Amino acid sequence: MAKVEIKYTKLFINNEWVDAVSKKTFPTINPQDETVIAQVAEGDKADVDLAVAAAKKAFHRYSEWRTLDASQRGLLLLKLADLMERDAKYLGELETLDCGKPVKQAEGEVLWSAGIIRYYAGKADKILGNTIPADGDVMTFTLKEPVGVCGQILPWNYPIPMFVWKIAPAFAAGCTVVLKPAEQTPLTALAMAALVKEAGFPPGVLNVIPGYGPTAGAAISHHPGIDKVAFTGSTEVGRLIMGAASAVNLKRVTLELGGKSALVVFNDADVEKAAEIAHRAAFANAGQCCVAGTRTYVQSGIYDKFVAKAAEIAKNRTVGNPYTDVQQGPQIDNDMFTKVMGYIDAGKKGGARCVAGGARQGNVGYFVQPTVFADVKDDMKIAREEIFGPVQSILKFETFEEVVDRANDSNYGLGAGVITNDITTALAFIKHVRAGSMWVNTYDQVSPQTPFGGFKDSGIGREMGEDGILQYLETKTVSFSLPKKPQ
Ligand code: NAD
Repeated sequence: MAKVEIKYTKLFINNEWVDAVSKKTFPTINPQDETVIAQVAEGDKADVDLAVAAAKKAFHRYSEWRTLDASQRGLLLLKLADLMERDAKYLGELETLDCGKPVKQAEGEVLWSAGIIRYYAGKADKILGNTIPADGDVMTFTLKEPVGVCGQILPWNYPIPMFVWKIAPAFAAGCTVVLKPAEQTPLTALAMAALVKEAGFPPGVLNVIPGYGPTAGAAISHHPGIDKVAFTGSTEVGRLIMGAASAVNLKRVTLELGGKSALVVFNDADVEKAAEIAHRAAFANAGQCCVAGTRTYVQSGIYDKFVAKAAEIAKNRTVGNPYTDVQQGPQIDNDMFTKVMGYIDAGKKGGARCVAGGARQGNVGYFVQPTVFADVKDDMKIAREEIFGPVQSILKFETFEEVVDRANDSNYGLGAGVITNDITTALAFIKHVRAGSMWVNTYDQVSPQTPFGGFKDSGIGREMGEDGILQYLETKTVSFSLPKKPQ
């Protein structure tokens, strides 16, 4: 086990490290061995009030932040990306300690996230309005202005990437932020806050309040001083956030929520390659991935061969100490471990055929064997509900029309994939399936330039790409009266 130094455990408000007003702390747990890593300051409403006051001050029209040239905001973001690269090894090891993902993967996510910061750094001074040929004797144009103080509530599955998806477009747009990391993974958000300060962002631009959802999280979503809330997590909590966001003011809301994404493999696919893609789709990040392709639909002509291959790959997946060269570490916590084991039990009892895994791995830490169910039916619990664990459900289909209807038969609409060599089948699939991200002969390709988000109950709005920054901007329309307007 790596020895990772824990440098920050306090709240980060106005570029200072402070205790919670209540002086309370909460433990963060190592999912690998179930031990307490550290006690972290537990923020609540009183701390969110202080953070919002700091963020509002930083957003004042004459503040250092608001009077900075847009290009200078971009330079600060570039500096932050450089600092992340400098500390990538440390940040990766800290992430692994707090959330259990393999350390190579964690370090890769730090470097990938630095690229997202650079993408938005480049956008900071390219935020453009329009000139509009409006009716009447007027000259009209639009200004794009920052939304204001933003509340950002994060999940635990990709702590550093989610931190960056939230703050990078907000800072590029000129907003200020009050951010709450998930209670399971506060440590890297605090380490990132230290880098934001080191990069030179003025006090109050970023405030980080670790704490629990119903207390600190709810204080953010209800706060009248917050202009926008961005959330990633469960659909259930997404609904609460949306309700709270309209209770005392009318916050702008973006939600990245759950999924039950379908990956469809047609008869003409190369079975070996398709099984590899489907495996990665279902098992990436120990299945703790909102776009996980957990419903694998396979056409009848290759079904048996595909099931055998999928089982073989899952059985060979390496699971264990995330500081070693494994593909999968533990699930995030005891609650999620218990929930995933409950779904595996439901799959067995519901009549699905377990062809790989199906049990806990070891007896210390939240490790689950990569599990594959074949002969899954659409109405089974494991085919309908988000499991958020290393469980793949394989379902058989006969025709294109049938599988499109079945893929769409879900309240979710985050991602979908198709594996085929027939371009007409691929294009028709893309047009007929309702999901925010579609992948053809690949899965889970997400880059800084590509918008990401869901149809239906998978969310509202998009992050990343051009769409991502628009969510942090208001449009101001300006009309000048002219005595007489030439064409
Ligand atoms: P969650 O939705 O409960 O938590 C996500 C974040 O919301 C955390 O920061 C949490 O503290 C906060 N939160 C919780 N209740 C809140 C409230 N009332 N007001 C404001 N903030 C609140 O997710 P979880 O319990 O950690 O995981 C449960 C399920 O969520 C998982 O099984 C999975 O299905 C889903 N999930 C999805 C994603 C995703 O990327 N879409 C990420 C994590 C979890």
